[in-house]
Amino acid sequence: MQSYSFKLDIRLGDHSLEGSTLTCCNQFDGKETWSLDLPTVLWILERVAAGEGDAREIRDDLLQATEWDSACCSSCDLAMSHFPEARHRHEAASRRWEEDQQLDSDSFPYLLNKGKIHRSSCRRPPRPVPPRFPEDLHTFAVLFGEHSGDLEQVFNFLAGQASRGARQISSSEVVAMMARDGVATVKSRLCGACKPRLPDLDLAAPEGRPACWAWPLLSDVPTVAAGVAPVSVDVNVLPHQRAAYAEMERWHEGRCAVCGHGHAVGRLVRDHDHPSGLIRGLLCSSCNTAEGRTDSLLFNSYRRRPPSVILGLEVLYLPAGFQPGTHHQGVPAR
Ligand SMILES: [Zn+2]
Ligand SMILES: [Zn+2]
Ligand SMILES: [Zn+2]
Ligand SMILES: [Zn+2]
Ligand SMILES: [Zn+2]
Repeated sequence: MQSYSFKLDIRLGDHSLEGSTLTCCNQFDGKETWSLDLPTVLWILERVAAGEGDAREIRDDLLQATEWDSACCSSCDLAMSHFPEARHRHEAASRRWEEDQQLDSDSFPYLLNKGKIHRSSCRRPPRPVPPRFPEDLHTFAVLFGEHSGDLEQVFNFLAGQASRGARQISSSEVVAMMARDGVATVKSRLCGACKPRLPDLDLAAPEGRPACWAWPLLSDVPTVAAGVAPVSVDVNVLPHQRAAYAEMERWHEGRCAVCGHGHAVGRLVRDHDHPSGLIRGLLCSSCNTAEGRTDSLLFNSYRRRPPSVILGLEVLYLPAGFQPGTHHQGVPAR
């Protein structure tokens, strides 16, 4: 419950009382109740009882004092000055939104919705709905009040309320999905009603190449100065292979070898080949998870020519708890 208090001077005939308090309480159900402080009420009653003034005069004054500038409520009075600006911002945002939807169906022949792929003409997936803005001041005022009078928050809220619906996607996005997730997996995501045709995925498609294939070779990357400690020294790498591992880590520059996204130091996972126990390269956790269970063009390319092969580096991945010197053979696969 919110309440607002106002100072008010009361006049009755030739008597006046200064500094009375008029309070408006905003109830949870949206109703407003007004009250006047008791000393003022008693003062008015005494004056009227003594015949010192006309009760109708004071009634009219009080009714006028409780009228809102917005002709609605206290919330509307508070939000009133922000309404035109908010409406203007919304219109600009709507125009940008409309422009974003103007993708032509030749370049974007598919719709993606909740993981399902449709033809752009399919009527099944919901179309995106633009954020709706309140038509009337009072609805806006309530929203404005709920978001502490912060327009930024109001717009974030409205954007969150809007239904995203289906997203238009291009053929090359679908090719990238096929390359990464495997053709069979993408086929299982096709809408059964509109039966979209998949683009061709040829083995030389750039989408099927791990990001690291495009990285310059190590000889072109500035070398670590002699005497500088390897990037990360740890027990999972044999002491005599740590320099090689440091080279591999340096080459990655914090990027995932498959998707190429940069990640904070230490967030990349060492991907290793289980039969040989050799580290193949560094992957982000999402690519590392996918690597273990995806038989796709992209991951097959990666496994065929991972960073270790490109750089010619052999680094054994030691499981946690491994004591150097106790094992001389390869590390058994988990
Ligand atoms: Zn469909
Ligand atoms: Zn109102
Ligand atoms: Zn990745
Ligand atoms: Zn990533
Ligand atoms: Zn393992």
